[in-house]
Amino acid sequence: MKMLAGLLLLAVPVFGQSTAGTIIARELQTSRSYEILSHITDDIGARLTGSKGAALAVRWTTRQFREWGIPVSNEAVKVPHWVRGREEARLVSPANQNIVLTAIGGSVATPPSGITADVIEVDSFDDLKTLGTAKLRGTIVFYNNPMDMELVRSHRAFEAYRIAVAFRGAGASRAAEYGAKAIVIRSVGSASLRTPHTGALRYDPKQPKIPAAAMTAEDAMLVHRLLARGKHVRMHMLLTPKTLPEVDSANVIAEIRGSEKPEEIVLIGAHLDSWDLATGAIDDGSGVAMVMETMRLLKEMNLRPRRTIRAVLFMNEENGLRGGLQYAKEHGNETHVAAIETDAGGAAPTGFTTTLKADALTALEERTKPLAAVSSNRFEIAEEAGADIDPLTTKGVPSFGLVPEPLHYFDYHHTNADTLDKVDPKELAQDTAAIAGLAWILAE
Ligand SMILES: [Zn+2]
Repeated sequence: MKMLAGLLLLAVPVFGQSTAGTIIARELQTSRSYEILSHITDDIGARLTGSKGAALAVRWTTRQFREWGIPVSNEAVKVPHWVRGREEARLVSPANQNIVLTAIGGSVATPPSGITADVIEVDSFDDLKTLGTAKLRGTIVFYNNPMDMELVRSHRAFEAYRIAVAFRGAGASRAAEYGAKAIVIRSVGSASLRTPHTGALRYDPKQPKIPAAAMTAEDAMLVHRLLARGKHVRMHMLLTPKTLPEVDSANVIAEIRGSEKPEEIVLIGAHLDSWDLATGAIDDGSGVAMVMETMRLLKEMNLRPRRTIRAVLFMNEENGLRGGLQYAKEHGNETHVAAIETDAGGAAPTGFTTTLKADALTALEERTKPLAAVSSNRFEIAEEAGADIDPLTTKGVPSFGLVPEPLHYFDYHHTNADTLDKVDPKELAQDTAAIAGLAWILAE
């Protein structure tokens, strides 16, 4: 009986249900999303751009598409290759205390014997100006900027993240301008079990490059308490990261050609690379699994949309965006009718952000009612919908970003706790169903 029901689902849309509805139902019943994610995380592991894991991920995902009978190609992308080294720190005054930190991606190394310097706390770039070179020269500048938990709890974690992360991106160069020797930021995260949070920085070419690290919330609070009590805080830190020559890598591109308008493309994308501290289950193994499973499912159901659905697994979202830029360079002139990116974790879906507005959005909402089955028929207007598709968005391609429930995303994001166990198989299947349903509707 169970088998019969499965066969019926496979063959034709259930009477009275739209094809999108059938796709969603089938994904919820037979999802292999978690199996795909398990391989990417547990079997392949961390996938920092330029690493062996990233190369393996390109090979394995390409082979999978091929095995499923889906045409696939690799698009060459030259990528940066940064490698984390040792990272150690301790307070030497007022007491000897171990400090848990991690280098911010792209950071230069400290001298081989490390840096020992006074720690000066700031919580804004204006503070730097106020203190000036007289107070900051030769110090370790400590940016103490927690995420706004009020925003996080009201489901606006990404907003809170964008505010706090400014210091990770620009903090080193801004402090270098005043003669600082190094910086430490408070890890950008919404929870911590002394888990430091990495991510990329951008050096301003006009300033000297100084080492940059993120210390855990617990360590940041310790340093803050000591300074608040008027103690003289000195820290020793040693970082030995290296920037190696650039490496040949690739975006993975797979397609189900449209039956009527194959030249019109609906893109679904996620990024293959991850940070190196963990296996990138929520960032962005989940997204990769959703995109791959969408293609596998459509192929297995023998469904061919009117327009082409193109899956793109981008390389190097985390520390360079080279994959997204390369894709835009190679394919920017093709007709993209829509682009969907999934890079916000694997918790239960709540809807999509979109750059569509007014009548166009109303018209789409009329057609996306089947998405209500996975609580995803809710669109929030945004300026951008994902970093990898941003070059397309800028060109005016209607863009969409999946919004899984964000409440706990930044508890694990970019830390050594971003592992498979943080993803629930049922929720991941719901996400895939939302992506597959929306891609199908847009492609029809
Ligand atoms: Zn990501």
